[in-house]
Amino acid sequence: MTTFVEIHDVVVDELRAILGDDGVLTDKAARYNRTRVPAPFPVHRWAEYVPDLVVLPRTAEQVSEVVKLANRERIPLVPRAGGTGLNDGALPLKRGIVVDVKRMDQIKEVDLVDRTVTVGPGINMLKLNEELRRHGVMYPDDPASYPCSLVGGRIGTSGWSLIGGRYGHTRDLVISFQIVLPTGEIIEVGDGGGRKIRKSSTGFQLKHLFMGHQGTLGIVTEATLELVPRPETEFAAFFHYPSFAAAYESTGALAKSGLATLGGVVLFDEWKLRYLRRDDEAYIPRPDHVKAVVATAMYGTRDEVEPAARRLMRIGRESGGTYLGDEISSGDWASRHDRYATPLHGRLRTGEVVPMSWHCEDASINYSQLPAVMEEWHAIADRYVTRTGILDDWGMFFYTNAAHKPWGDYLVEIDIGIWEQRLSDENWPDWVACKREIAQVALDHGGSITACHGATREGDAELVPVEMGGGFDVMMKIKRVLDPNNIMNPGKYELDRAFGLDEKVFR
Ligand SMILES: Cc1cc2nc3c(=O)[nH]c(=O)nc-3n(C[C@H](O)[C@H](O)[C@H](O)COP(=O)(O)OP(=O)(O)OC[C@H]3O[C@@H](n4cnc5c(N)ncnc54)[C@H](O)[C@@H]3O)c2cc1C
Repeated sequence: MTTFVEIHDVVVDELRAILGDDGVLTDKAARYNRTRVPAPFPVHRWAEYVPDLVVLPRTAEQVSEVVKLANRERIPLVPRAGGTGLNDGALPLKRGIVVDVKRMDQIKEVDLVDRTVTVGPGINMLKLNEELRRHGVMYPDDPASYPCSLVGGRIGTSGWSLIGGRYGHTRDLVISFQIVLPTGEIIEVGDGGGRKIRKSSTGFQLKHLFMGHQGTLGIVTEATLELVPRPETEFAAFFHYPSFAAAYESTGALAKSGLATLGGVVLFDEWKLRYLRRDDEAYIPRPDHVKAVVATAMYGTRDEVEPAARRLMRIGRESGGTYLGDEISSGDWASRHDRYATPLHGRLRTGEVVPMSWHCEDASINYSQLPAVMEEWHAIADRYVTRTGILDDWGMFFYTNAAHKPWGDYLVEIDIGIWEQRLSDENWPDWVACKREIAQVALDHGGSITACHGATREGDAELVPVEMGGGFDVMMKIKRVLDPNNIMNPGKYELDRAFGLDEKVFR
């Protein structure tokens, strides 16, 4: 494949004029660093998806100029924030220019009166909350990738937060944002007009159109976010159970408690406990009779949380749970942002220590369907584990999924370990088929194939038109109108079909 840089030196000069010399990176290390994503990918194929250039803008105006230039020259553009997306959203499938927004990390305004903070898309939640702490407020978007994902990527994926039951998820917490459209115009989108307005009935709700678009409709350059009081206290309680069935009933009872301070409920299944016993040195092993664990956490004022915690403990025990103690409960919950190093040191079931890559397949599934989906997903995983010899089933989590009403549907995740160096052209189709079967089960049970990661890789992407039905035609029309030259993150979400292209770039 020829590279853009070799062909268009003049364009590189134009970019340097817009961004300055240090805002345009052409060297191999800078470009390869922006190819890395934490999703399994045959290592030998990385070279095919290296961007031709990386740009590091500082302002919306610079982004706009870059977009206009790319649109004129028909060069693919891919926004990249933290690069932690689990569905290859920021991977430049058709190469071109990666727009790395990390330098746009300013806190522009903290408004304690109307309770908002306005930031660039390149800041992460950890840094933002460090700054907000002294004002007694916080921005409560709390993914497991809290220290490494950035506000732009949270909007790009429409992220899910571990404490979303209490505070909401990214789409609930981002009040409005500024976005550069694929033709270079800079616009503001919200729930109507008004950068700090949370509810309006004017016009289309454009915020939601540009939430979770995976960089296919533009580049977010600023966002105005919700501030909440820093909670006076947090309370975490973990329970264990002799069976999945008992834990499932208890999860339902806890999630339906109606306690407003409840951040979320997380169910770990037996496969997950097996994996943690074997591979997570920080995990305090539970005895073999423990077949499932349920984690809960609450946030708020002491006046709210203390009585609610007593009630939560009662529900947990009365629904068959055994409390795991303060050390495990507080310790495990406190390490919720740190545990993902473990998958990088995985072992195969045989105990052999090999370089494993972690893949997380997520879906939204109604509570009533969880037991059936669990059985079917493990059966699929088991078949491919046996067939390929390079996969391992690392178990499932079930997290409450809705904001403020965390009882009806769940973010369901199955973690699969992949022996990275053995992933080859020969077994890649097996891996894709495994993913596709998992996603199909979600659809068969009335669910959605992804709760927060997006469906932009082979194995899920083909099912997007199936899940969206007639809505996919609307997606294609919107794409054609907003991005007539298909420059924004081409190859994602099957949107190339809007331009009569059905070339599979990702084999
Ligand atoms: C250890 C770990 C734990 C995780 N836990 C969670 C979790 O609890 N909840 C959750 O939701 N996710 C989780 N994820 C997935 C990931 O962190 C999220 O999807 C996150 O929102 C991605 O943010 P990012 O900044 O890394 O974005 P990137 O990966 O850089 O980008 C993600 C997508 O957004 C687009 N994008 C990036 N910046 C912009 C912009 N400025 N404008 C428009 N589009 C843009 C990209 O093109 C891409 O399509 C986890 C990932 C890891 C590695």
